[in-house]
Amino acid sequence: MALLDHQKLNEALKSCVKCGKCLTKCPIYRENRDEKGGARGKIALLRHVCEKDQTLINRLDHVADQCLYCLNCQSVCPQNVELGLLIPFLRQMKGERTRSRKWTRSVLSKKLSDPEFIRRLPDHLRRFQLLLTASVPENRGIHLRFPLPSVPRSRVLPNIALRSFVQSHPHKYPGEPGRPRVGFFVGCLHNFLEVGTAVATIKLLQRLGMSVIVPEQQTCCGLPHFSSGMIEAAEKLARSNIEVFADQGCDYIISGCPTCVAMLSLHYPRLGPRHNPFTGRTMDTLSFLALHAPDLVKRKASVSDHDWYTYHDPCHLAGELNVRSQPRELLKMFLGDQFREMEAADTCCGGGGSFAVTQYQMSLQIGSRKREHIVQWREGILAECAERASVIPQSFTVVTACPGCEIQLNDLLYRQTPEIRVRHVVDLLAESVLD
Ligand code: SF4
Ligand code: SF4
Repeated sequence: MALLDHQKLNEALKSCVKCGKCLTKCPIYRENRDEKGGARGKIALLRHVCEKDQTLINRLDHVADQCLYCLNCQSVCPQNVELGLLIPFLRQMKGERTRSRKWTRSVLSKKLSDPEFIRRLPDHLRRFQLLLTASVPENRGIHLRFPLPSVPRSRVLPNIALRSFVQSHPHKYPGEPGRPRVGFFVGCLHNFLEVGTAVATIKLLQRLGMSVIVPEQQTCCGLPHFSSGMIEAAEKLARSNIEVFADQGCDYIISGCPTCVAMLSLHYPRLGPRHNPFTGRTMDTLSFLALHAPDLVKRKASVSDHDWYTYHDPCHLAGELNVRSQPRELLKMFLGDQFREMEAADTCCGGGGSFAVTQYQMSLQIGSRKREHIVQWREGILAECAERASVIPQSFTVVTACPGCEIQLNDLLYRQTPEIRVRHVVDLLAESVLD
């Protein structure tokens, strides 16, 4: 499947006016100042290759990899250039250029778009986990016993759950009469790794009296495939999820992973039927909870004034989905003065899914800026409390709304500032709601 036909590609390339605004928000450009890696450079090179000089095509391979698919470029572009399509297109081109790559990608794509293979993959990985990894103290995750080429021993990784959320929990939860029926799209990271957040989501929805459906046959949303240019694989997964959710009669479909939400709501209409069960009713869990905040706040527990919290904006949630105020509203309602913004809360953490594996050093370099902002936030609170001789802070927590960011921030913070914890907003809210 061609992601962009000739005409659409031309239009997209020509709509760039070379203003450079995208560079101001590109985490990679901020680090290496390499114009080619930013959105403007990628577009210029692609245009050059398409219109004039095919010999530069090798350079496209390099710039295609230099990207987190954070889409910060797209969210600030005054021309609305669809980088969310151009970047996968670049990667699709790269994958199709050489026969060996084409063959590898076709095998990979077949396997990774098979819902049954995806369901079983964690079982296989768990065997390696038992052999090759050791636990990090305080349930912060695991680390390798021996370094691998792109994964150093010091890196903190998430634990693969013994059983996935979907396998180990009910698929239907009754609600109160007249309350909405909510479909829960769990997402791979909450299904296989951060299972506690999926449990917390159900707890909150049940407190609100919602009936909840968790279709057993749901699979990966396909965003990793889509962003890496494996469009047929993404299409197959999209069609599978569309079929699975089609007859569930959901008023809303929610997910605690903003990357899944972006895929389901923005890209599924391109990959499957324009009107599908996700159209117009898919939102991230926090936007949904913010809609029902008054009911939730009635059940609020108190928060200790020893504990301090701040919020990290996930790129896909803040930039692509424009959800910035809802998590803050909820956090302020629940935490009051114990919530304090950090500077540049929407600076990318450097995660970017597979980017943090294939380009770990760059991912760390980008993340170190984030860590600096977090450390400054903590220093500021400590200094203020000391000056006022008020309650001595005992804990500092960065709260976020994306499991990918959570994993990256945990790794970034654990090695140098293990006393700063990382949590998903949903976990915090579930804990703060009285039983
Ligand atoms: S912000 Fe948009 S229009 Fe401006 S250079 Fe970047 S891609 Fe082109
Ligand atoms: S998606 Fe992110 S990393 Fe890639 S070019 Fe855009 S801003 Fe830069």
